[in-house]
Amino acid sequence: MRKYDVAIIGGGIGGLMAAYRLKKNDKDLKIVITERGDKLEKRHCPAGKNNPCVHCKNCSITSGYAGAGAFSDGKFNLGTAYGGTLGEELGDDVANQYINEVDKILDTYCDSGSAKVYLSNEDLKLKCLQNNLRLLDMNVKHLGTDNNYKTMQNLINAISDEGTDLLTFYDCKSVSKTDGGYVLTYTNGEEIFAEKIIIATGRGGANFVSSLCRSFGVHMRSNHIDIGVRVEMKDIIWKEFSDKIYEPKILYKTKTFEDRCRMFCFNKGGLVSAENNHGIITANGHSFAQADKKTENCNFAILSSIRFTEPFDQPTEYAESISRLANMIGKDSVLVQRFGDLIRGRRTNEHRLSQNTVIPTLKATAGDLSLVLPHRILTNIIETIYALDKVAPGTANDDTLLYGCESKYYSIRPVFMNNKFELTDNIYIIGDGSGICRGLSQSGAMGIYVADCITEE
Ligand SMILES: Cc1cc2nc3c(=O)[nH]c(=O)nc-3n(C[C@H](O)[C@H](O)[C@H](O)COP(=O)(O)OP(=O)(O)OC[C@H]3O[C@@H](n4cnc5c(N)ncnc54)[C@H](O)[C@@H]3O)c2cc1C
Repeated sequence: MRKYDVAIIGGGIGGLMAAYRLKKNDKDLKIVITERGDKLEKRHCPAGKNNPCVHCKNCSITSGYAGAGAFSDGKFNLGTAYGGTLGEELGDDVANQYINEVDKILDTYCDSGSAKVYLSNEDLKLKCLQNNLRLLDMNVKHLGTDNNYKTMQNLINAISDEGTDLLTFYDCKSVSKTDGGYVLTYTNGEEIFAEKIIIATGRGGANFVSSLCRSFGVHMRSNHIDIGVRVEMKDIIWKEFSDKIYEPKILYKTKTFEDRCRMFCFNKGGLVSAENNHGIITANGHSFAQADKKTENCNFAILSSIRFTEPFDQPTEYAESISRLANMIGKDSVLVQRFGDLIRGRRTNEHRLSQNTVIPTLKATAGDLSLVLPHRILTNIIETIYALDKVAPGTANDDTLLYGCESKYYSIRPVFMNNKFELTDNIYIIGDGSGICRGLSQSGAMGIYVADCITEE
């Protein structure tokens, strides 16, 4: 059996930053990253404009080295206003210090001059406020999909060169306590011993984290889930915002239900993509920095936040069953519907879609989202689209496309033993899988914070 001082489960930005920092702090540590997916350079998604998702066993978009952020737009939020609650956990000063360190580390692996920083904008903030919308404000560094990819590849190479073992297709199924540490068991039949473990399994590892918490008696809190759609329209409609702040993130309190809806994950000149989460196909989006890879569309998510109360305690399953329903109607694909058809109460069909002025960038099944999304969620989404139309006229055009479903599961949040994010003795959790982070910067920051906690012990 291989033996390590620290085993990191998951090779996304959280796991990579933790490995990087552990070695910097103590070069003699024996470290392994075990990742259920493939090497970054071998990750290829066969789906696209003309090909639907083919349900790969390991989704190349979400799993493999560099994690869920590998093909992302590479937007790094340089603060704590959104992208997670690390600021609440550690205090804004400490969280910001670690976020800045992530930025500095990535700078050393990024082509110089390729990143652009967008500063917050008071005029747009006011325009939103005057229309009952709250623009979340923070400086953002944008690498672009291709630069982000290269930066992550350079970081992974550096981690490997410094002696950390990087294993692929190691899907951890369980962890058990043994003398002096833990035995990790993998679906490929392998076992690994480690004194300490860092769980960095991201959103895709939600079921793994729940089962781990159950086996170690760690209490879990359900908080909320976000469910909604990916919205696509002509890029020019949001140009004023994207030129000035690159990525608008806007909150809206809906009129009928007074629920919180948010517009986020904006992709200028981007593509809508399909994501396979254990057989459930959901929508997402990304964009490339290179001009020749830009489309004439932009896309973003509109998600409605739902907070469940007693006795319901399966929010992730709830979101999954809504997405499954979309897949059932869409014949194993996400659905796409024109906004004009949705508000007229009719499905979108291939004929109407072929006449649309907004050309879809993802091959999805033309259908009817009102047969999938619960009334409350659908009402929230429609009201938010009309509210956004006031600051970016054209958002509520008939030809705007809605892809369903998109959901974010941050519902499971373990109760930590201490502020080192320890679940039980010597098992730590970081990144999106901890229920604290929702973005690259905070996930990376949590990785280096926990690495410091481990080496200071
Ligand atoms: C399309 C897309 C675009 C995005 N764009 C941005 C953006 O521009 N800016 C931003 O801040 N955030 C963005 N995000 C969110 C960001 O990618 C995540 O917040 C971030 O990747 C979380 O990092 P992580 O290390 O916690 O988890 P992940 O990146 O999800 O990595 C977890 C890894 O663990 C592996 N894993 C899971 N379970 C197991 C197991 N049992 N055994 C072994 N390995 C396992 C997975 O395969 C995965 O590779 C985007 C996400 C997506 C999907």
